[in-house]
Amino acid sequence: MSRPSRYAPDTLPGRGQWIHQAACVGQWSAMDDETPAGVTYAKQICRSCPVRMACLDDALRTGDVKHGVRGGLGWRRRQRLAAMRRKAAGSTP
Ligand code: SF4
Repeated sequence: MSRPSRYAPDTLPGRGQWIHQAACVGQWSAMDDETPAGVTYAKQICRSCPVRMACLDDALRTGDVKHGVRGGLGWRRRQRLAAMRRKAAGSTP
């Protein structure tokens, strides 16, 4: 059975074993629901996730900053964090 969203966390390259511990397993489409209620729900799922930091780091590292919720953060905050990382690393956006 295919997953409903190509942006869901385990579809991106470079994942380690942490994805198997994700609290959003089986709720992939919820993580990409852009409605206010959907974003709130997705962030609730992330709050209980044991691999939240690994997920956030992965999203920032792979550029998964345009959709949904990853690592407990919406895409706008992830974009800002990714820009801060690039700046701190001395590269240009
Ligand atoms: S932090 Fe959120 S998006 Fe990332 S794996 Fe956990 S539940 Fe899924």
